[in-house]
Amino acid sequence: MPSTSAGLTRNGAGTVAVVIWCLALTTGPSLAVPTDGPWLGEEEPVTVLGPLRPQASEADPKWPQPGIEKTSEIRSQAEANLLTEDATQNPTENELSDDTTTSGNTTGNPSAFRAGANGTADQPEEGMQEHATDPEMRLPGNMRPLHYVIKLQPFVNGNASVQGSMEVELEVLEPAENITLHSDKMQSDMNAVRLVDSDNKKVWIKSIYIDYRQQFLVLNLNSTLEANKRYNLSMSFNYYLLAEPKGVFKTQFKDRAGMLSAVASTLLQPVYARRAFPCFDEPGLKATFDIHIARETHMTAISNMPLLDTTAMEGQDGWVIDRFNTTVPMSTYQVAFVVSELEYLNCTLQRDVQIRVWARPEFLANTAYAQTLVPHLFKYLEDYLGIPYPLPKLDIVTLPSAFPIAFEAWGLIMNYKEDTILYDPATSSLAHKRMLATLLAHELAHQWFGNLVTPFWWTDFWLSEGFASYFATLALRQVEPSWEVEERMVVKTLQEVFRHDALLNHPAVRISTFDLNEPHGAFSRISYQKGESILRMMNAFLTEASFKKGIVNFLLAHKYKTATTDDLWHHLTTAAHQDGTLPGNMTVKMVMDTWTLQVGYPVVTVSRSPDGTAANVSQKLYLARGHFDRGEALDQKWWIPLTHTSKGEADFNRTQDVTWMKDSEESIAVTSLPPKDQWVIFNLRETGYYRVNYDDHNWNLLIRQLRDDHSAISVENQAQMADDAMNLGVAGELSFKVVLDLINALKNTSELNGLVVVSNIEYMNLMMSSTPVYEEFQRFLLSLLAPLYANLGLSDGAPETFEPHAEYPKLVRWACEFGLPDCVARAKSVYKQLMMKPENSSLIPEELKSTVLCTAIARGGPDEWAFAWSRYLKSRGEEKDKYLVALGCTTNSSIRDQYILETLGKSHYLPVTEAIHVLDSLGSHPLGGPTGWSFLQNHWDVVTNTIGEQYFFIKTLLEMATKSFNTEEQRVKVQEFLDGHVDETAKTQVCDPVISQTERNVAWMKRNYDVIAQWLGENGFSDLNI
Ligand SMILES: [Zn+2]
Repeated sequence: MPSTSAGLTRNGAGTVAVVIWCLALTTGPSLAVPTDGPWLGEEEPVTVLGPLRPQASEADPKWPQPGIEKTSEIRSQAEANLLTEDATQNPTENELSDDTTTSGNTTGNPSAFRAGANGTADQPEEGMQEHATDPEMRLPGNMRPLHYVIKLQPFVNGNASVQGSMEVELEVLEPAENITLHSDKMQSDMNAVRLVDSDNKKVWIKSIYIDYRQQFLVLNLNSTLEANKRYNLSMSFNYYLLAEPKGVFKTQFKDRAGMLSAVASTLLQPVYARRAFPCFDEPGLKATFDIHIARETHMTAISNMPLLDTTAMEGQDGWVIDRFNTTVPMSTYQVAFVVSELEYLNCTLQRDVQIRVWARPEFLANTAYAQTLVPHLFKYLEDYLGIPYPLPKLDIVTLPSAFPIAFEAWGLIMNYKEDTILYDPATSSLAHKRMLATLLAHELAHQWFGNLVTPFWWTDFWLSEGFASYFATLALRQVEPSWEVEERMVVKTLQEVFRHDALLNHPAVRISTFDLNEPHGAFSRISYQKGESILRMMNAFLTEASFKKGIVNFLLAHKYKTATTDDLWHHLTTAAHQDGTLPGNMTVKMVMDTWTLQVGYPVVTVSRSPDGTAANVSQKLYLARGHFDRGEALDQKWWIPLTHTSKGEADFNRTQDVTWMKDSEESIAVTSLPPKDQWVIFNLRETGYYRVNYDDHNWNLLIRQLRDDHSAISVENQAQMADDAMNLGVAGELSFKVVLDLINALKNTSELNGLVVVSNIEYMNLMMSSTPVYEEFQRFLLSLLAPLYANLGLSDGAPETFEPHAEYPKLVRWACEFGLPDCVARAKSVYKQLMMKPENSSLIPEELKSTVLCTAIARGGPDEWAFAWSRYLKSRGEEKDKYLVALGCTTNSSIRDQYILETLGKSHYLPVTEAIHVLDSLGSHPLGGPTGWSFLQNHWDVVTNTIGEQYFFIKTLLEMATKSFNTEEQRVKVQEFLDGHVDETAKTQVCDPVISQTERNVAWMKRNYDVIAQWLGENGFSDLNI
């Protein structure tokens, strides 16, 4: 049983953090907080959370090992979550089991069971099964919460338990015979559940039913709750602090005296409020909250709202209770608190809102930039939207942990990766400063988009993430005007999501269903990056004024409430019609449904007439190389805002001057273009979410312009041409002569254009790597990359280390892979240092680790490989994967054989996901692919016997091993082997994708190899020395 006394991790003489509130915020109105509820259940019988049963995962079969039986079970993630990092402070699995023997009914039985009011288990009651059919596991919707009182006491320095109580005032909307609310990973005290009506008259609870699958707690009542009446429900509960931010969790750091200092904090989005307190955990069910946090006196508690008062805890020396002001109406996932010994440096006032940035004391000096920046961002957002931030304070906390996320709790922005918002002008890079500012601007924008107006359900959460991302760009464009924020957004956001969206395996912007088992699916890059991109597109075609009017009206109409995507369309349409910026027979919904409900995006092809003055403009789904099968089945078209300019006008700002192509039109005629000796450009400043292709003549006019004076074309459109041309070339839609001419013309123009090239090399390199002109190809690319690499500022001084430079890992990767001497020397040097100090994990910046390891192994010998192998065996998680992949970079054939023998051929019992890494790594190198392929052929029976009918894994292993195969001879060999070894039932799922991958590679080579080889020769790369 969890102890209720605090076991301090530091001695009593430890430093007591004194935190003084900036102004007197404790003078707000005193709120009626019920005092008769149990406070942490001192006299109440408390049952204990049981362990979850480990579950074998079907999705991760082990690599086959003949003669070795599968004995180990895979520990479930859920179970792992329960075990905090400091095992000495927490009950072990066995201790928990002992406790649950006495409580009797919480051993993690995956099937639902019912506990009677006397605490005995029973079979599910009839009628309760109705929940099981709800695919999204929604609450019944027959009542809504109005106000919660939440009291929590986290024993963060003790046994890591949390004791709590919850009281909620409900309004019944339809007569109800039960109350269904959410509860997960906690033990509620069934004997202490109380329900009273508005006259304080008790309502008897017949039984309590727990549905683990849907995370429901259901109270069956003896009487019917009446519609339009209010009731008060209260209960107490306990649970353990988790080890990761999926609920209330614990993290810790060593303070300056070397003592451990613990932190309890929260991340309740999307579905983890139910792990903090029983509640109606859906974003649409907003309520107000009174939050009370018990803490030890040497710690500080902060929450969404300012502190109201602090009182001593009766009977618990050294503990006090912090009571916070009542919140504004908000969703359950917004609730947040931090109990810690973190501090803040100073308090800035923006308008009358107090802003503080919290960090551990030794890092406070590095919060200065965030502290200075936030008020400017804040002011921009308030001025633009004309809607004041409604809370009296905003705390920004950087937690001593390494989870790469941040969260926008209302009034309490949380950053879970400690160094992210810290900035040291002496050592931090500009890239880090940009990332920090973008993150803060994003979370700040959420205070309006997501917090003030919340998407009604998770399927619409692009509204929250897309807007936060877009307004971060707008705010930073204003606050840091020298950063070229919008130009970078085009390359870093729009073009990046283009590459992913083209695979057609991501959801649409509005996801069709929310899966409780994979709740983070609502937060894919599509919600963020495509969401931001299509908002920018709307801003362009509606005009800034109409866009702004529609957005502000949308916020005003839905503030403190929820909204759907259609609500947004309604307000934008109204504004656009009022302003005359959208034809009266068109609506924003009509246009935007084609962008938010369909996956992928179009490529627009512009074919000019012989005299140039007209063009046939057509649309079709853009299909990236390798995704024809998936895309050909989709008959999709879009409402496309066509914008254009020409050499004579060169006006790139007329983004609202739109010709619409309807979703019923395959092509339209565009007239009034200039004569054929002048170029035209479509999709001005790449504001539209589509690619553009031209006839060769127009491409060549554009290339000539770039050679003569690239500044005549907007920065965004230069980047657009590079990105579109390279992707259209790889997809087989554009001649590589044009592609290479174009990127060669952009050489030395700007860093951004260089980044575009770097981001699109992968497939071309894979195809060219086994050809006789690979050296020439590398020389050409190095001629593009070397100036950019030099700009990194790495070339001065001894080549011992790499500077961390967040935006350039790809550039460094290719510079090293193509053998740029400085890059290779640095990689080898830093690897040598690592070999001498293997435990020094900070020697190589994380984002460059794969490059350093791969370069050192590829250009090293047996010693370098053996060192990496020993590190692979000792490391875990992502680190282990990086070593596993890097080991395959070797260019030594006998070491390569050893690699495959040690990983796949011996008794390491490799999970299939790691086997895929091995074959992926081998397949990425021209000499490695055949090694992996031979292994698969020679061990086919044992591979397929073990993996069984999970064809996806077999297909993926084959795809990885053969991904560089691009000759007819290789295609025939793959075909013959699969024909002889795969039966009919698996043919479509295994053989067809693998064969068609090779067929596409062969076709690509036939179409492009001669063109590329000739171009390299004609342009002098046969004998150029870098
Ligand atoms: Zn966000």
